[in-house]
Amino acid sequence: MVSTTLLREAALVDGQWRAAADGRVFDVTDPATGAKIAAVPLMAEADTEAAIAAAAKALRPWRRRTAKDRAAVLTRWAQLMTEHADELAELLTTEQGKPLAEARGEIGYAISFLTFYAAEGQRVRGEIIPATAEDSRIMVLRQPIGVVGCITPWNFPAAMITRKAAPALAAGCTVVLKPAEQTPLSALAIAALGQEAGLPAGVLNVITGDAPAIGRALCASPTVRLISFTGSTEVGKLLSAQCADTVKRLTLELGGNAPFLVFEDADLDAAVTAAVLSKYRHSGQTCVCTNRFLVQASIVEEFTHRFTAAVGKLAVGNGKQPGVDVGPLIDADGLAKVAAHVDDAVHKGARLLVGGAPHALGGTFFQPTVLADVTPQMRVMREETFGPVAAITSFDTEEAAVELANDTRSGLAGYFFTNDLGRAWRVAEALEVGMVGLNTGFLSVEVAPFGGVKESGLGREGSHHGIEDFVETKFVHIGGISSPGAAAGS
Ligand code: ADP
Repeated sequence: MVSTTLLREAALVDGQWRAAADGRVFDVTDPATGAKIAAVPLMAEADTEAAIAAAAKALRPWRRRTAKDRAAVLTRWAQLMTEHADELAELLTTEQGKPLAEARGEIGYAISFLTFYAAEGQRVRGEIIPATAEDSRIMVLRQPIGVVGCITPWNFPAAMITRKAAPALAAGCTVVLKPAEQTPLSALAIAALGQEAGLPAGVLNVITGDAPAIGRALCASPTVRLISFTGSTEVGKLLSAQCADTVKRLTLELGGNAPFLVFEDADLDAAVTAAVLSKYRHSGQTCVCTNRFLVQASIVEEFTHRFTAAVGKLAVGNGKQPGVDVGPLIDADGLAKVAAHVDDAVHKGARLLVGGAPHALGGTFFQPTVLADVTPQMRVMREETFGPVAAITSFDTEEAAVELANDTRSGLAGYFFTNDLGRAWRVAEALEVGMVGLNTGFLSVEVAPFGGVKESGLGREGSHHGIEDFVETKFVHIGGISSPGAAAGS
């Protein structure tokens, strides 16, 4: 159970905490124990339309305010989240499962978007472009796009809320946000603090419930001008199709299949440390987690040996226990996919070095696993495993490594370790991804643009780029500016 005043079992619509129109609810459970934590509204189309109407009503007064005024609200919100950071982290671990230390890190990351966009919203500037006629002027206005719909995943229940809401609100947009059904409580708690910070009614609406029904209503609405989605590639494609009819802008952060290349000139200790972090963080359940380790043949045995030793020391358990490195998987579907990927690889000839099965703790816990000698035909190489399973293969040349790394329809993150300056440039440029970790396994910072290429998505979040999708460009052509002499007829 959680003890926090921030626990909400209602959705936030038009500044009020509401039940679903038809009164239905669904349970939120702790993935570490299976215990029920709370029940939240099972909302659908009618509730979504009410939230969109509230956001539309709130839009004009919110966008009319100065950017500085909106920044003050976001800053206050960041302060409140900081004051409640421990409670928010505990709630996050309870509904999501990740170790408490990682949850604390995520709350800090979530706060950073509020702080960053409070400032960035004040830098959305227009332009004056030299005109093509003496009596005209060309002005470019940058204005909020309008009502935006946000759909967020369960692996970052707090950070994905502010990564979308902060730039939207800073730019002057209003929001209807639907968190993942597995982890709605962090979103509702953060929204409660936003309300306390001074967000006016209707500016941020958070609705929980039937994902396809809410998604359909958001996509079909002509009032909603942007859908910002983070989640699976499959749902991203569906939303793209659903948004075609109303010609909406889309920001999509979708799945990845991150390669992690280790060249023979790399610092092997640093590579192993980064490899463990980038694979087992959040039990492997982030879209930038490494999915494929590609190691130069001359060092593959040594790398695999050191890496497997480090993985063998990872502590599995309830995220609330001190010292735990790897928590449970989010649900039974997640566990089934991980087990199926391991079985497929072993069946096709991969060598199992450690782990390979559900953990003795039961539930959705899975042993940290390392597979060697994987091949491109195996599911672990082609699909995002989203679990604590490392798949290692080898390559001979830089060209072969890059070719293997790019042999996927995804293009989110990619990592590589080398101490050769020329190779560092060549490989960074050649990887078909939106984000590269060079001699690091860590990417997520609020000041840098996060996003993917190919089927990993559209648009960027974070940094000054991350506010762009929430802003429309309007050109104003001004005529009739004749000179005073011309006006006097001289
Ligand atoms: P995962 O498979 O990792 O849970 P999803 O893409 O299914 O990823 O989930 C990401 C978010 O998308 C969640 O908020 C989920 O509720 C939502 N979602 C799932 N299906 C749909 C849908 N058909 N329309 C709109 N949102 C959806």
